[in-house]
Amino acid sequence: MSLARRLLLRASRSPWLAEQLRRRAFFRRAVRRFLPGEDLGAALDAAAEFARAGLGSVLTQLGEQVGNRAEAVAVRDHYLGVLAAVRQRKLPTQVSVKLTHLGLEVDRSACEQAVDALAARAEDSGSFLWIDMEESRYVDVTLEVFRAARGEHTNVGVCLQAYLRRTPDDLVGLLPLGPAIRLVKGAYNEPPSIAFPRKRDVDECYVMLADRLLQEAARGRARPVFGTHDLRLITGIRGRAERHKTPQQAYEIHMLYGIKAAAQRALRADGYAVRVLISYGTAWFAWYMRRLAERPANLWFVVKNLV
Ligand SMILES: Cc1cc2nc3c(=O)[nH]c(=O)nc-3n(C[C@H](O)[C@H](O)[C@H](O)COP(=O)(O)OP(=O)(O)OC[C@H]3O[C@@H](n4cnc5c(N)ncnc54)[C@H](O)[C@@H]3O)c2cc1C
Repeated sequence: MSLARRLLLRASRSPWLAEQLRRRAFFRRAVRRFLPGEDLGAALDAAAEFARAGLGSVLTQLGEQVGNRAEAVAVRDHYLGVLAAVRQRKLPTQVSVKLTHLGLEVDRSACEQAVDALAARAEDSGSFLWIDMEESRYVDVTLEVFRAARGEHTNVGVCLQAYLRRTPDDLVGLLPLGPAIRLVKGAYNEPPSIAFPRKRDVDECYVMLADRLLQEAARGRARPVFGTHDLRLITGIRGRAERHKTPQQAYEIHMLYGIKAAAQRALRADGYAVRVLISYGTAWFAWYMRRLAERPANLWFVVKNLV
């Protein structure tokens, strides 16, 4: 992992830096590249615009690690409202949640109930609930919560991170559930004992996991989503899907709002199911620092907004 990436990921956990930078106009302007606005209305409008272009979307309110029950309940209620709005506006839109945002560390059982309520509402709304994957210390509990939800609902999926050494085993353990899996490379600062430090190894693991998912999807036994902007990787996935005779509609490609927008549309034009993950909300500091860490060249956008 490069020094710049390590420093940015460490900075993402600094409340002092968050406080300093969040108020700066130049920093707020740079952030706007990655989110259509801070409020839900802006995110829904962006989702409607993508829908007009044939692209689906996934909405996520920024935030993690809430500190008390009232905050966790407010997050659950917020997402219940999002799903109601999605239904009312007839949008092809899903939602993605972080368990620590739903109070995992405050009250695990209440968090599980919230996931259950959201999956049920997603079902009613013709939508889908994704569970994000956070730092490695949450992987076991996240998979347990996912298993419980999957036992009750079909329209719930979980994210797996290719950089974790454990993920190939986790995938094998989940396959009997016929799961929806969003495969990503992984965005957090993890020690080499837990995550591959070299990008080459992460990419190799991603390809291996993608290949397994595509084979399962060809038999209708998994629903893979590839959450990546790595166009070379996506080309490889398309080739493997053809070799395994995995139908084009049996998997999706998801990318983040503001990244590789032209490729999103080009993939859609080629007949692939593409969704854009739209983040919104005021708690964007840690999340934005992770976006900078993914591509330290993005710091240039921050600098450009200084002048
Ligand atoms: C839909 C979706 C959901 C995600 N959910 C999670 C999650 O739950 N948990 C988690 O740990 N991570 C999540 N991530 C983040 C993921 O782990 C990676 O950090 C991120 O996707 C960057 O990796 P990449 O696959 O795009 O490949 P990379 O090799 O990092 O990037 C490939 C190319 O994409 C472009 N690119 C990538 N990132 C950026 C950026 N920030 N700004 C500008 N260009 C960029 C660059 O051109 C780069 O060369 C998610 C990502 C997506 C797309």
